[in-house]
Amino acid sequence: MIRKKAWRYYCEHCKKSKGTRQSMELHEEHCTANPNRKCRMCYGANAARNKRIVDEALAMFGGLTIPEDALGWDAYEKRETGILAFIDAEVEHCPACTLAAIRSCKVLNKEFCLLSWDYKEAADAWHKEALQNRRNEEQ
Ligand SMILES: [Zn+2]
Ligand SMILES: [Zn+2]
Repeated sequence: MIRKKAWRYYCEHCKKSKGTRQSMELHEEHCTANPNRKCRMCYGANAARNKRIVDEALAMFGGLTIPEDALGWDAYEKRETGILAFIDAEVEHCPACTLAAIRSCKVLNKEFCLLSWDYKEAADAWHKEALQNRRNEEQ
């Protein structure tokens, strides 16, 4: 019989855990819940930009989440999609950066955003476009 005790490494920013220090260090560096993350998709993210986008969204949209029944559905939907569109444009449509902003932006209703915007779909489209761009460059 082999009995083993092993260290488990947990992300400081989200609930993920891993079996090795290296793989957790790599995850934390890019974790979309880490305010100082580096982006693996667009390479454009840095702590200053992340903070600026969230601060601007907070200033533009009043700094608070507003419950749906306080606004009425139409105004509520318009507000949430407006914030989401603002973020998406600011990060130049990078899906990982959009997800990171959704996670850290306190004015947003995260559940609503993740229902109306699909990370996987956006990431697939992003990768497809990156591949297409690479092909065009090679020709
Ligand atoms: Zn994490
Ligand atoms: Zn990015």
